[in-house]
Amino acid sequence: MRISYSFKQVIEGNDVKNVFQCPKGTKDVLPEEQVYWQHIEAVIRKVVRLYGYEKLDLPIFEETALFQRGVGEGTDIVEKEMYTFQDKGGTFLTLRPEFTASVVRAYIQQGMSSLPRPVKVWSIGPVFRYERPQAGRYRQFHQFNVEAFGEEDPALDFEIMQVAWHLYDMLGFRNLSFQLNSIGCPICKPAYLKRLVDYYRSRETGICDDCRKRLNKNPLRLLDCKTESCRPFIASAPPMYEHLCPECNGHFNTLRSYLDTLKKTYTLNHTLVRGLDYYTKTVFEVWAEGIGAQNAVCGGGRYDGLVEILGGASTPGVGFASGLERIVLALQQQKGSVPPPSPPLAYVSYHGPAAEKKAVELLAGLREKGIEAIMGFGARSLKAQLREADRRKAVFAVLLGDLEMARGETLVKKMDGGMQENVRWDDLASVLMKARIP
Ligand code: AMP
Repeated sequence: MRISYSFKQVIEGNDVKNVFQCPKGTKDVLPEEQVYWQHIEAVIRKVVRLYGYEKLDLPIFEETALFQRGVGEGTDIVEKEMYTFQDKGGTFLTLRPEFTASVVRAYIQQGMSSLPRPVKVWSIGPVFRYERPQAGRYRQFHQFNVEAFGEEDPALDFEIMQVAWHLYDMLGFRNLSFQLNSIGCPICKPAYLKRLVDYYRSRETGICDDCRKRLNKNPLRLLDCKTESCRPFIASAPPMYEHLCPECNGHFNTLRSYLDTLKKTYTLNHTLVRGLDYYTKTVFEVWAEGIGAQNAVCGGGRYDGLVEILGGASTPGVGFASGLERIVLALQQQKGSVPPPSPPLAYVSYHGPAAEKKAVELLAGLREKGIEAIMGFGARSLKAQLREADRRKAVFAVLLGDLEMARGETLVKKMDGGMQENVRWDDLASVLMKARIP
C-alpha cells in the first residue's frame, strides 16, 4: 500500500517544514464561521418543532450492503463515491453517503412501524462521498435530513416541501427556485422508460458516450446529462409527468393543487430525475441563486418501495436532505443576517502572581453564577490584557492591580467607555449581572 500525505511546504526562517493539510474535499469550520452554523441549526430546530418532527441520531457508518441495496447498485454514489473499508473483524462498512437508507434501517430495526403514523423524524450530521471537490462540493459535507413514513397522502409530500420552504424563508433566502417532477411508480415507469429508450434510439448517433451507456443501463439518467450536445435531445424528450398512471397522476395533481393554493411557486422540470434509485412519484429540488454551478441546496422526494427493499413491511416514505455547506454559502453570498456571536460579559485582568490567584478564584465564582467570563493567563502586562479584552469583545474588563488587591476590590470598566467603578470582590457577580445587557 502506498501512503501519500498532502503536505504543504512552509518556510520558517531557514527551515522548510512539511505541514499537514486537511484531506482533499474536507474543510475546517473555524470559530468565526460558527455563527452561520449555529444560526442554521437553531432555525432548523425551530422549523422541525413547528411541523412535529422528532430527532433521530444514527451511526456514521453502516454495513456496506445497506447502501448497495438501499441507494442502488447502478448509482454514482454506490459505483464511485462510497468510502468503504473492512474493519478488523472482516465486516465491510461504509461511511454514510446519505441518510435515507440509515433512517429506513433504523425504522425497521427499532420497530418504528408500530408508532402512530406518519412517523416523522429528522437528523443532522456529516455524510461522505468521494466526489471531485469544487466550490460547494465536498467529500465530507453535512446534511439536514427529514423523513416521514407510513402515509401515501400527497398532503405529506406537500408538508415535506413546506418544511424546506419554511427553513429557507426563516433564513431569509431570496431567489430560490423549486423544481418539481414525478417519476411515477413500478406500474407506469417501465412503459415510460420504453418510450424514452425508443425516443433516444433514433437519436443515438447524436448523444454523448456516457448517454449511450445510460441508454442500456439506466435510461432515466439520460435526462440529467450535463453535456452541452445532449441538451436539445433532453429538452424535447417525452416528460414522465405526461405519462403517469391514473394513481400517480392523481397524486401529482393533488400535490400541485396544494402548491397552487398556498401560492408556492415552482417549476415543472421533466429533467429532474435525482441520482438515487429509490424514488417513486414526487421528486423535487431547491436551487439557490449566486452559489455557482453546485446550486442545489436541497433534494428529495417519495420512496414508497424502499422500506420493503430493505426488508420491512411495505411502507410509503417521503423526505429530503439539504446540504449545510451550501446553505452557509448561500447565506454568505446573499449577505443574509445572522445573529452576532455573544461576547463574554467579563474579562478578568491582573497584575502579579497574587492577583492571578485571585483572578482564578473570582472567575470560578462568576462562572458558577452563570456569568460568561474569561482571563488571559500568563505574565502579560495589564495593557496587553486590555487589548485582548477588546479583541474578544468583552463587555466589561475587571482589573486586579496592586491597589485593588490591597483594598479587596476590583476596578470594573465598561469596555466601550461609560461606567467605571470599584466593586468589592463579594459584590462582583451581582454588579455584573445587574449591568448585563438584556
Ligand atoms: P443528494 O443526497 O445528492 O440528493 O443531496 C442532497 C443535498 O446535499 C444537495 O441538494 C446538496 O445541498 C447537498 N450535497 C450533495 N452532495 C454534496 C457535496 N458533495 N458537497 C456539498 N453538499 C452536497
